[in-house]
Amino acid sequence: MKIVFFLFSFLTFLFSFDYKLKPIKLNNNSYYFYGKEEYFSKENGGNISNCAFIITKNSVILIDTGSSYEYGLQVKKQIAKITKKPIKYIINTHHHPDHFLGNNAFSKSDIFATNFTKEEIEQNGDLYIINLNNLVQSAMQNTKVKAPNIELKSHELDFDGYKLELLYFDGHTKSDLVLYDKNSKILYTSDLIFNKRTLATPHANIQKWIKSLEELKKIDYKILVPGHGVIDKTKKAINENIAYLRYLDNTLKESTKNGLDIFEILEKPVPEEFKDFSMFKEEFERSVINLYSKYESLYQK
Ligand SMILES: [Zn+2]
Repeated sequence: MKIVFFLFSFLTFLFSFDYKLKPIKLNNNSYYFYGKEEYFSKENGGNISNCAFIITKNSVILIDTGSSYEYGLQVKKQIAKITKKPIKYIINTHHHPDHFLGNNAFSKSDIFATNFTKEEIEQNGDLYIINLNNLVQSAMQNTKVKAPNIELKSHELDFDGYKLELLYFDGHTKSDLVLYDKNSKILYTSDLIFNKRTLATPHANIQKWIKSLEELKKIDYKILVPGHGVIDKTKKAINENIAYLRYLDNTLKESTKNGLDIFEILEKPVPEEFKDFSMFKEEFERSVINLYSKYESLYQK
């Protein structure tokens, strides 16, 4: 029996997906892992979003856990190369599967999220796994739903003396948590920001999202860590995201008013200002298909 178990563990090790993760340093105690600007695939193992961690005096705070158990495990291994302190605290910024499905690699950690995010994970987590089993396949091995166990309500968290400010927004989903580290002036925006990567809108409210971005702009940060794309040390990413959402909103409004169908909208040329956005074609198409009927009922005469 022991031999069978050993062989099984050895084979799982041999065939486990290698995410080739490398933490990118933000300052002396903060890092992030950059996710590929792609859609879920077998080739990327679902590594399509960023996660980040902060090393405090006695522990590590991890912001989001990626899209699989294996990704979570490899994050843990990479962090262990930098510090032996335990990852005591995990924060799930929102309920999208590329941000929380690594949770079950962290059996000893407390997982924090808003009540909405927690409930979405509890109710729909298994559906996300079924969907990703199809798209990502083998890298999803051993991924199980581990829902957050602590509900966030306060505006500040004290992790053994290390304080983080919590900002509750919406627009990308119904609950988008932003973390502001006053010590380092690093702002973790989760998916409210896609830097140079076309915004994903499956659960979006465009007007609320724009409002949230206008608020984010007021924050005095040195580094903005987005949910997707590279970091930004200016307000550029926020402004570009507002411009994209306005473009999407106006295009859908005008097109449905003028009786254009989905295909006619998708034929429009890519505006100059978004030509360097990755995944423009795929995400713009997804957004138009998702949102068309809503705008049609509102604006078509
Ligand atoms: Zn998201």
